[in-house]
Amino acid sequence: MQTLNSNTTTTQATTTCPRPLGLVPTMGALHEGHLALVRRARAECATVAASIFVNPTQFGANEDLATYPRDMERDLGLLEAEGVDLVYAPTPEEVYPPGFDTWIEPGALAERLEGAARPGHFRGVATVVAKLFNVVRPDRAYFGQKDGQQLAVIRQMVRDLNMGPEIVAVPTVRDADGLALSSRNAYLTPEQRQAAPVIYRALSEAQRLWLDGETGAGRLRAAVLEVLKSEPLLGGIDYVSVADAGTLEELEQVAGPAMVSTAVRLGQTRLIDNVLIGSA
Ligand code: AMP
Repeated sequence: MQTLNSNTTTTQATTTCPRPLGLVPTMGALHEGHLALVRRARAECATVAASIFVNPTQFGANEDLATYPRDMERDLGLLEAEGVDLVYAPTPEEVYPPGFDTWIEPGALAERLEGAARPGHFRGVATVVAKLFNVVRPDRAYFGQKDGQQLAVIRQMVRDLNMGPEIVAVPTVRDADGLALSSRNAYLTPEQRQAAPVIYRALSEAQRLWLDGETGAGRLRAAVLEVLKSEPLLGGIDYVSVADAGTLEELEQVAGPAMVSTAVRLGQTRLIDNVLIGSA
């Protein structure tokens, strides 16, 4: 496994590698969710590249950039064990050299949900993903359904800007009690960790109701909210959404693929999760 820090040497390496080339972008602090993306890429691609970069431009001023978990050595060991061929792990200066001043500004899709709670977040995500694509030049790029809005924003960017890579979505990996794996779960106290599965229980309730024939989005939102509110440790609920899976516009009736999503606070930690309903 090659670990490269520079844009030039990374592009050189990927120019001559066997194709198809699959890219798994990450911010490190790897867990089984990331590794599911890597395994899918390994199964489908002749060459697998992963990137590790805690992207400063997608963090708001009051967010956890400084404390975001980092463990490069452990991450590299995990990626090597999965048979990754190349890791691109640039410094912030390599990605954003002095004078950097060009951005990708996603549209309405990025203003809802996470975008409303985290202004500028998807501008940072779209810009860094575009840069990763330009440096690594993959044929396919693997993203988790866990970050459903991110996936939608990236799909739209690739479509709108005629970018090359095929975007592959990988289902959310969860702990046995339903909590979606996230690097931020490491922030939870034992009590908060015990309370956290309420998030998936709440989303599953919407899924259950929908399977029972409920198509009213308002009633699905209310059901999710009710389960969330049953957990006294939940400090705040940023949103409960039942939205069109493609546009993320809030629905009145679920008639096609829809994403039920929520963002909640447990102490200082903000957790997001979603489930899909209404798919064929
Ligand atoms: P991050 O390091 O949090 O930026 O995540 C890197 C990639 O891993 C993104 O495409 C995430 O959606 C994906 N990911 C994170 N957690 C999970 C999970 N529990 N299951 C599946 N994919 C995940």
